[in-house]
Amino acid sequence: MAVPFRRTSKKVKRQRRTHKKLSVPGMVECSNCGEPTKAHHVCKSCGHYDGKQVVEK
Ligand SMILES: [Zn+2]
Repeated sequence: MAVPFRRTSKKVKRQRRTHKKLSVPGMVECSNCGEPTKAHHVCKSCGHYDGKQVVEK
């Protein structure tokens, strides 16, 4: 049953939303340098992709 939103305390509302977080999808840690990079993309900081150096600095 629907409850008027003022009947739900701020505490209860916030507790319910602890599982609802913003997250950046498709981000992984680079296997070479550990920097956060896009999945299936060449690492921007070290130029590694799939365990190989593909872009020279
Ligand atoms: Zn890297």
